[in-house]
Amino acid sequence: MIHKEIVVGPFQCNCKILACPKTGEAVIVDPGDESKEILKALKNLKTPSGQDLKVKYLFHTHAHLDHIAATRDVREDQVSSKIALHKNDEILYQQLKMQGGFFGLNLSDPLPIEHYFEDEEIISVGSLKFSIIHTPGHSPGGVSIRLHENSESNVKEMLFSGDTLFQGSIGRTDLWGGDFDILIKSIRQRIFSLDDDIPVCPGHGPNTLVGIEKRENPFCS
Ligand SMILES: [Zn+2]
Ligand SMILES: [Zn+2]
Repeated sequence: MIHKEIVVGPFQCNCKILACPKTGEAVIVDPGDESKEILKALKNLKTPSGQDLKVKYLFHTHAHLDHIAATRDVREDQVSSKIALHKNDEILYQQLKMQGGFFGLNLSDPLPIEHYFEDEEIISVGSLKFSIIHTPGHSPGGVSIRLHENSESNVKEMLFSGDTLFQGSIGRTDLWGGDFDILIKSIRQRIFSLDDDIPVCPGHGPNTLVGIEKRENPFCS
């Protein structure tokens, strides 16, 4: 698998580029800022046969500013990509300008959402197979995105947990639509039910494992 992580913006969001080595079809998870850096990294990546990557989806774990601020610019460059988000975060997404205003940023209005994530939906991009897990609590439309193992393309199991679960911590619940009890339920029922050895790549900070958080996370173990 082709895999590149870029830490973007003042909030240090973990943005990922993931691509199928056979077809070059790619997804970008959480293009939260620094569109130029993201596009530069994307254009430097090639398939083993030398093909450019072609982005099919911009996946968003949720619609806070630090996960969506570069979406417009990346989408305008990658014309065959689709902006994907859970419906329950559409209000937040539409308020991008207002979210930016709180930090003194003058952002453009967001482009339309082109794909609404459904809970337990499967999305295939070349040989990459993703499933969507609705994990509200940090925001109403928060999702965790599971990448399924595929040994043929050397794809390893991975969970992109957004701001739902961090190494040793959890997402804040004091922002619009946040709910602590719902967040804990999402983590316990939907993430801790996965295999212990699945790596978790949060929206910020270092990676961890499902099993480590299950045993040691002080908020929900
Ligand atoms: Zn967030
Ligand atoms: Zn965040």
